[in-house]
Order: sequence, then C-alpha cells, then structure tokens
Amino acid sequence: MLLTISTTTQPATDLGFLLHKNPARVHRFEQSFGRATVFYPEATAERCTVCLLVDVDPVGLVRRRSGPAGEDGQLAQYVNDRPYVASSFLSVALSDVFGTAMAGRSKDRPELAATAIPLEVSIPVLPSRGGEMLIRELFEPLGYAVRAERLPLDEAFPGWGESRYFSVTLSGTLRLQQLLNHLYVLIPVLDDEKHYWVGDDEVEKLLRRGADWLPTHPAKEQIARRYLKHRKSLARAALERLTPSEAEADDARVAGKPAAREDALEAPLRLNEQRIAKVVEVVLEVGAQSVLDLGCGEGKLLRELLRQRQLERIVGVDVSLRALEIAEERLELDRLAPAIRNKLTLLHGSLMYRDRRLQGFDAATLIEVVEHLDAPRLRAFERVVFENARPATVILTTPNAEYNAKFSSLPAGQFRHPDHRFEWTRAEFERWAGDVATRFGYEVRFTPVGEVDAVLGPPTQMAIFRVR
Ligand code: SAH
Repeated sequence: MLLTISTTTQPATDLGFLLHKNPARVHRFEQSFGRATVFYPEATAERCTVCLLVDVDPVGLVRRRSGPAGEDGQLAQYVNDRPYVASSFLSVALSDVFGTAMAGRSKDRPELAATAIPLEVSIPVLPSRGGEMLIRELFEPLGYAVRAERLPLDEAFPGWGESRYFSVTLSGTLRLQQLLNHLYVLIPVLDDEKHYWVGDDEVEKLLRRGADWLPTHPAKEQIARRYLKHRKSLARAALERLTPSEAEADDARVAGKPAAREDALEAPLRLNEQRIAKVVEVVLEVGAQSVLDLGCGEGKLLRELLRQRQLERIVGVDVSLRALEIAEERLELDRLAPAIRNKLTLLHGSLMYRDRRLQGFDAATLIEVVEHLDAPRLRAFERVVFENARPATVILTTPNAEYNAKFSSLPAGQFRHPDHRFEWTRAEFERWAGDVATRFGYEVRFTPVGEVDAVLGPPTQMAIFRVR
C-alpha cells in the first residue's frame, strides 16, 4: 500500500525538513507487521513528493497473532486485501515514521511547520465502506478538494462490477501536521476495520490526533464510532470529551442550570419573546421564503417561523445533537399537518465548516450564537456564513455588554451565560459587523431589541445584513 504527499511551497524540498527525512535518501523502518519505506520520487525546488510505502507481511501477521484464528476462516487469514490497501496499518506507519511532523515540530523549519502550505495527497487504493460520499463527507469539511475514482473489482472482468476501493487525491492549503493527523484518523474510519484491539488508549489517541479539528467536524459522531470500532461506550466517552465546551453548555442547558442564569436575568424583560418577535418581523419584512436558523438550539425561533405562511422552507442547524433532539421533541412535529411539518428540516452541522446544505437561502438568523464561538475562530465562521452560505439577508443578535450593569445580580465583568466567550459593547459589535459587511459585500444596519436605556443602550443588539 502506498501514499504520496506533494507540495509546491517554495522551495518544495523543504518538505524534507518538515518530515525530518532527507529527500536524497531512501529510509527504511521495520514495523511489527512488515516494513515501511520512505522515498522521494521527485524533489525539485518547484515540486517535491514523498512516498510512504508500507509492505504488510500477511503470513508474518498470522504467525505473530496470538490467540485463536480469526473468524474469517483459514484462507482469509492469508489471502486478504490488507497488504494492498490503505488501512490502520498505514496510520501506524505514519505515526511511527512521521511522528515528529505529526506533533507539529520541525528542527530546521519551525516557521514552515506552523504555516499552511499547498499539499496534495494521493492514495491509489483507499477502501471506503460508505462510498465516495463518505470520502467527501469526511474530507471536504476540513477544506480539501476531493477527487475520488472508484476502482473496478477486476480490470479484466468489468462484469464483476465495482469494488469498495477508490483512487483518491486530496488537495488543500494547510499545515503538514494537520494533514497527517487527518489521514491518521480518517483512513481507518473509511476502511472501518482495524488490525489491532481497540481499548481505552485509542480514545486518547483519537482525542490527541483530532484535538484541533474533530470537535467541530460535522461527522464527528460517525468518525468516533468507526474509529473506535463501534465500541459504543468508548465512542460515547470520546464524544463527551471531544466537545467539552459545547457539551457542557448543552448539558447545562438541558439541566436548566447556567441557562437559568441568563433566563433569570432576562426573563423579567421578556427579552426572549421580544427578540423572537423582532426577528420574525424582519424575516417577513425582507420577503424571505426560505430561512436558515443557524445555532437553532432547542428551536424556540423555529416554532414561530413555522407559524408564518409566507415561509416555505425552514432549516434549523446546530452543532449539538442533544439540542436538536430536544427541538424535535418540543416542536411536536408528528402532531403538525404534513404540509407544515415538511417545511422544516433539522440539520446537524457546525458553523466552522463550509457546508453546501446551507446555500441558497433568502435569510439566515443567528440568534444569540456568535458569543458562543471562540473569538479566534470567528474568521472561519464569517466565511462559512457570509461567503459560502451567502444568504441575501443575515439577522444576527448578541447581548449588549454595556447593559449588564443593569443586572444587579450579575457580578461586574461576568457574562450572562458561562458558555459565552465574549460579550460585545455596542461599539465593538458595530465595528465587527461593519467590517464583515465591507469584506463580504453586504450592507448592515443596527436595531435595538428590548427597552433602551438612555446611557447603556438596549439589552440585546441586532444587526441586519443585506447583500449588496
Ligand atoms: N438560537 C437559539 C440558541 C442560542 S444558544 C436561541 O436563541 O434560543 C447557542 C447555540 O449555538 C447552541 O444551541 C449551540 O449548540 C450552538 N452552537 C455553538 N457553536 C456552534 C457551532 N460551531 N455550530 C453550530 N452551532 C453552534
């Protein structure tokens, strides 16, 4: 089985420094299951390609295996696809051979290791239980352009049909460390088979390798389940730890705890109802027929949107499965007339990743969502919403931090909700929104929600973006 990684960063031969493998030499590594070889089929200043070739010794594998023979029967032990296809063996070899690069370290080119560079990976035989669709679902949200070609079962006998093997090329601009970690996790996920026993330490590996991308990957449940070989308890443990902030916010929300603080503060103002009423008003005013409620939570706004006859298509999106389940329950969809129920779709997804399902809407609402996103990741979020999904109108609300002074029970400097990553003053919000509008070709206006204090302004601030 083999895998190549190419770059056109200049000089391309710096790839050798990133991988700690001199392009002029052939490097061999003994593995418990065979041998890994690293060499460079091309190494010029313009383009450099490294090849990782892994020889799996099927006979050796069987001999070394302790315990009873596999369930597959005697022959399958010797005659199987393992020597030829990208699988968990390749992941083990990757971490063994390129461990330092996977940790993001480079002795001679530390700045380059920290820089996104053009990278292309080719895997001539990648098994996918889940077809081309799964390959795309796993890699596209991470920003790769994917080319996948299904291989016939046997070239000589086209009548035998297609195999589950693909020749795949992935290209993107990212750090080499990210790419290696993506491959390490996702190759066995596609293959959906592992050559070794999966125990607790696999959860640790998954969390370590997935630390900076898995928590917000739209397919993270599936990834965890398959990576952990469908061991449900492990997958659950991993998922819980994958999204501490979101999961905590989620559990808290369900338990009614921290959300209770925000609710207790805002309830006397009937702020939630005022916010929803105002949003619905704007949605209707701009003449929207299709609406995307991003970060829909438990569906309070969706409920009101469903009542509007002008609306034909309503989609709620949230990163929290728990929230979506609650939304589904609370909306009592099964009790609605089919004509109304069919207007609504609930989608599990993250606002950190481009998602084609979000394109083509008249309006998008982001009600009390932006302050839950990590500030350093706002840039990604802005592109997903304003560049990729690009609805004609975006309605966004967020707390006005100045108004917090009026909540006597809220200690100074604290946020209304423990999961808030920030709360903006009016000036900060207007600066952010103005900048987003300029960069993405929208115009923006601001409107208060709730009773306006002469000095501190309204409790909630709203921005309405219209595409220019
Ligand atoms: N709009 C709802 C919920 C607001 S709470 C309302 O007004 O009641 C914020 C919501 O944003 C939560 O449901 C949370 O799960 C969701 N969220 C947080 N980060 C997200 C992300 N990266 N992608 C999608 N949704 C996210």
